[in-house]
Amino acid sequence: MTQAFDIIIVGAGMVGAALATGLGQQGIQVALIDKATPASFDPSASPDIRVSALSAGSERYLQSLGAWQDILAMRATPYRRLAVWDDTPHPLSRLLPGTMTEVEFSATELGASHLGHIVENSITQNALWQSVQREADVTLLTGEGIQALEQNADAATVTLEDGSQLTGQLVIGADGALSKVRTLAGIGVARDQYEQQAMVISVRYQGQPEDITWQGFFPSGPRAFLPLHSAGDQHPGETWGSLVWYDSPARLAELKVLDNQDLITEIRRAFPARLPELTHIDAKASFPIARQHAKQYVLNRVVLAGDAAHTINPLAGQGVNLGFQDAQCLQGLIKEARRSGDDLANPRWLAQYEHQRRPANRRMMLAMDLFYHLFSNAIPPVHLARNLGLGAARALPFARNRVARYAMGLDEQLPRPVQQILNRLPGINRI
Ligand SMILES: Cc1cc2nc3c(=O)[nH]c(=O)nc-3n(C[C@H](O)[C@H](O)[C@H](O)COP(=O)(O)OP(=O)(O)OC[C@H]3O[C@@H](n4cnc5c(N)ncnc54)[C@H](O)[C@@H]3O)c2cc1C
Repeated sequence: MTQAFDIIIVGAGMVGAALATGLGQQGIQVALIDKATPASFDPSASPDIRVSALSAGSERYLQSLGAWQDILAMRATPYRRLAVWDDTPHPLSRLLPGTMTEVEFSATELGASHLGHIVENSITQNALWQSVQREADVTLLTGEGIQALEQNADAATVTLEDGSQLTGQLVIGADGALSKVRTLAGIGVARDQYEQQAMVISVRYQGQPEDITWQGFFPSGPRAFLPLHSAGDQHPGETWGSLVWYDSPARLAELKVLDNQDLITEIRRAFPARLPELTHIDAKASFPIARQHAKQYVLNRVVLAGDAAHTINPLAGQGVNLGFQDAQCLQGLIKEARRSGDDLANPRWLAQYEHQRRPANRRMMLAMDLFYHLFSNAIPPVHLARNLGLGAARALPFARNRVARYAMGLDEQLPRPVQQILNRLPGINRI
């Protein structure tokens, strides 16, 4: 049996579910498919190991979709300050005043109530699945992956693993970094694996919820702290947090086999002294990190969004925020196509999506790469340069604040001079 829709979205992760809700609000008939099944929220359960720093821009988008209230009703931790510093011990450090190597941004200074929220990925996805189910025009099909994709002049058809078929004017691949839609459509990727990997560790510590997220840069990679909520009556006086330890695959392999007590000892040794006193490790997982960019976002009746189109180094926590920007952009263009009475796969509209989103995603990828390479070595001139850079960032509050406001989603655009610098970086056209 073949069911007909306007659009088929494969992947109901954060990006696919957001896009389906937005399109449903516009009266577009959408089928949203995911091979996973929904998990219900348990307020007493320990946090999901996958957490994301959602920017103010993402918060606004999720509000417009009606999901933000549900997220707040479950769990979200606002952060009002963000600190970054260079933690490489080096003789040249002594040439600089200690305070020059650290930059702190605060919401007050940027004229905002908060900089963002740390939210567990499963909570954002859960809230979005609730929003999707409120949309009469969206059909959510779970527990079923796709096995085939066919495109012709009038329609695209997706075949599910159980053999049933769905047809529509457009198929959107929001099925993550290993996107099957991308492969079936024959879209290639440019991929670079970083030398570092990331280990995420879910911890409890003694103390109250923090309002700061911080990241210290060591030559082997950054070590970051993301604040989470209170651990409640079950663990009085304790709070959850998430640590990210970037290091070589070999070092992370050593850490992975340690028992939790020994891992706490290693964390105490390796993390900056400002880390609160850890009491418990709940879970740990490591992720390979790679920069990956699809060669095309659009091909015939297929469009890619979110991690299916691009993955970036997570060190500034921008992955899903970029994915939400893709979703917003695509949603707006599809609305225009419908209003004009056009085929929803009309290249006139889809080319604009690629034209708007590719350079924006590429700029953020390059900025992260610059950061990564600048901080992942201890060569004295580079060490000095980055500290002077951090010093300049402290000394130039206007420029610094404009960039910070963009990174945190408070402003839509990077300041023009910074955009121009990033556009001129070597390699911009290769990724
Ligand atoms: C260590 C680490 C830390 C990070 N921290 C942050 C952060 O702080 N802030 C931030 O913005 N981002 C962060 N990210 C990135 C962020 O997690 C991703 O950008 C985000 O999850 C991408 O969302 P997505 O919906 O595009 O894809 P995914 O989350 O991968 O969702 C894809 C969905 O598609 C489904 N699917 C897959 N294949 C199929 C198929 N064949 N058929 C049907 N369904 C399918 C999956 O079940 C899933 O539900 C981090 C990433 C890592 C690795």
